[in-house]
Amino acid sequence: MLVVTKFGGSSLADAKQFKKVKDIVLSKNNRQVVVVSAMGKRNKDDNKLTDLLFLLHAHIMYSIPFDSVFLMIKNRFLEVKNELGLKYDIETELEELRKQFNKSMPVDFLVSRGEYYTGKLMAEYLGFKFIDAKDLITFHYNGTIDNETTEMKIKDAYHQGDKIIIPGFYGSYPNGEIKLLARGGSDITGSIVAKALNVKLYENWTDVSGILMADPKIISNPKRINEITYDELRELSYMGANVLHEETVFPVQEMNIPINILNTNDASNPGTIITKNCTDTSQIITGISGKKNFASFTIIKENTANKTSIMKKTLEIFESHNVHVEHIPSSIDSFSVIVSMNEVQKMQYDIIAELKKIPEIIDVNIDYDLALVAVVGRNMVNQAGISGKIFALVGNEGISIKMIAQGSQELAIIFGVSNQQMEDAIRVVYQNMVV
Ligand code: ASP
Repeated sequence: MLVVTKFGGSSLADAKQFKKVKDIVLSKNNRQVVVVSAMGKRNKDDNKLTDLLFLLHAHIMYSIPFDSVFLMIKNRFLEVKNELGLKYDIETELEELRKQFNKSMPVDFLVSRGEYYTGKLMAEYLGFKFIDAKDLITFHYNGTIDNETTEMKIKDAYHQGDKIIIPGFYGSYPNGEIKLLARGGSDITGSIVAKALNVKLYENWTDVSGILMADPKIISNPKRINEITYDELRELSYMGANVLHEETVFPVQEMNIPINILNTNDASNPGTIITKNCTDTSQIITGISGKKNFASFTIIKENTANKTSIMKKTLEIFESHNVHVEHIPSSIDSFSVIVSMNEVQKMQYDIIAELKKIPEIIDVNIDYDLALVAVVGRNMVNQAGISGKIFALVGNEGISIKMIAQGSQELAIIFGVSNQQMEDAIRVVYQNMVV
């Protein structure tokens, strides 16, 4: 059964990585549809091709000499071409492209060339047919993806037995003009293709062996998550764990196609499976993540006042300032509005002034020192005492819990602590709850 196999930038960074990709693709017959990002970093001080292309565009726009940036980009391609002995005449194509440089060259077109040329080189190397994403991924003029047309085009372009490669990260408007997806969007291209072809599995090859149960900057050597549901992943990603682009799961989730996160540099590692129904019950919690710098506005109302109506008025104030509300824990005469500090910084005093104008509000208390920790786990549902255990662990560590909320479908327990204590809170939960 067919799979879609997507490789991220670090899996394509140089000729050595290209070889690993070829070994992986050719090692299984069903890897017939490949999606690629643009060449990524070869080491941590290196540049991603996509970043260099954005830089090149800025040079052209502001009439800054661009020869050195252009050469850096060209050399990345030529190194791979020459080391692998490929024939594709990328030199002429790049010269043609260079002749078109002028201030009106659209940034999306120029930046998309990262995926386009990486895909062309890989197509020759694998012996696969290159299909330009501009002929598949179609956008409405309002910038959203036209799912129906896109799906139809992908289905039309693929014939059983074909071996094809599609560059990620871009598509086009109906008039053919190129449009980029969000940064990291090749993941989304892969997911869209997987859905359209209704494949058995979406393989997402990257440079980590799956998703970890906690941030390795906080926990040394955290365990790998074997299996995670789409919804759990969403809870974890929302709180800062990022392996995949956030929107990647939506297309495949609709069709119930699992995603396997795999490591190009450790190809035999089974990685993490993201799917609808997980069977692994070896851990109570699936993962823990945390995010700093939230603010909590606690609204205290008159005893007799109608909470629903005050909540409505309060939320309208946040909405009118375009501030996204993260959580609203509430008690009988008060409720808190939790927002990201970044979003609210500029207009916080206006918001407070407007809140204080609501007659039934007695007081507004603001806590600017809030980090949120999310303990995520499908196996916690219906298990008595888990949240009690978590809060006791955190409390015994001398960390005070400032707020408690629950994620969707009881999949996550979310609590707030001071920014400075976030790492300790994550550590104590991980050390005592992960077996
Ligand atoms: N190359 C693009 C980026 O760096 C897209 C991707 O890698 O998914 O954001």
